[in-house]
Amino acid sequence: MLDFDHTTLGQRVLFGADRAADNARLEVARRGARSLMVISSSAEHPVVQQICRDLQPTIVYTDVAPHVPIGNAEAARAAARNHHIDLMISVGGGSAVGLAKAVALSTGVPIVAIPTTYAGSEATNVWGITENHRKTTGVDDAVLPATVIYDATLTATLPAELSVASGLNALAHSIDAMWAPRTDPINQTLAIEAITDLTAGLSAIHTDPTDLAGHERTLMGAYLSAVAFASAGSGMHHKICHVLGGAYNLPHAQTHAIVLPYVLAFNQRAARSAAARIADAFDAPTALDGLQALRTRLGAPHALRDTGFRKSDIAEAAELVLPVTPPSNPRPVTREALTALLTAAWAGARPEDLS
Ligand code: NAD
Repeated sequence: MLDFDHTTLGQRVLFGADRAADNARLEVARRGARSLMVISSSAEHPVVQQICRDLQPTIVYTDVAPHVPIGNAEAARAAARNHHIDLMISVGGGSAVGLAKAVALSTGVPIVAIPTTYAGSEATNVWGITENHRKTTGVDDAVLPATVIYDATLTATLPAELSVASGLNALAHSIDAMWAPRTDPINQTLAIEAITDLTAGLSAIHTDPTDLAGHERTLMGAYLSAVAFASAGSGMHHKICHVLGGAYNLPHAQTHAIVLPYVLAFNQRAARSAAARIADAFDAPTALDGLQALRTRLGAPHALRDTGFRKSDIAEAAELVLPVTPPSNPRPVTREALTALLTAAWAGARPEDLS
């Protein structure tokens, strides 16, 4: 019997290769914006330059940093208020849209997001801000970008390593959605489709980084993953990665890419039906086999110690993750289990040993 409560978030999505600047212009006109703030880590980005020529934004704000430090958020909010900004356009990865979300959270100014990675923040109503080495996240519909403009030519410039890590970050949204607190048949269907798209897309662009169809398929997978994640909520994997990112300033996408097989190994026996569907999407005997085959093919990063995480941080990290791990996780999570998982992920040991 089906019995669930699902919310679909309202958002406009414009998709088209080489269309980002044109779609941005149309969207600004449609919204009747008078004072525009562009948020991007790079003022030199060709899309930012095009937008500047076409739309003459009031401010181009480039003080973007990973995990949205509170100081950056406050400064961007003050700039938006001082200039009476009524529309923001973020151009960049999760850090650029993350800063726009921090501004939207306190000002209500809408966001048009132009993503250049597969992080997926553009499709969620989740915000995150880091203060005193702790990342706080929250959910607020005011931070959901009103419009997302996808253009597959923009992810084509990602360096290969970041493309792989960011693609696996997207895959983590789908896999974690299969057992996250609000998992349901709708977000699971999106997540499974996303796993198929991401596997095909990332494999294609690994073979040929100029393959535009591969970039489009990966972007579609990233979007579907993020929609599934926004609906299902943060599962065990996301709780671990948010703590690691905020407390130890680890690189976001790489951390997700490394931790994912350990969480999948930990949960797959206790979530048999979800794991079977993930395995089918990978066309592999088990979910973990499928993920590991893809990771090997792409040359994914595999040890947290290579990201700056220290062995001596494991005990504290386990302590921080334990209280935020959802009680609905398929397998009960203990301090000992988290310590074993983080130790294995730190060393890059075999995930199979956690099953
Ligand atoms: P990022 O935005 O920090 O980008 C990583 C690096 O890649 C930066 O140096 C950036 O300038 C560069 N870059 C981005 N796009 C590029 C391109 N196309 N070509 C070349 N270089 C490019 O990293 P990210 O992984 O996209 O985002 C991470 C942040 O997003 C974290 O703070 C994370 O918490 C947040 N996030 C939030 C959500 C959410 O739902 N709220 C979801 C996912 C990620």
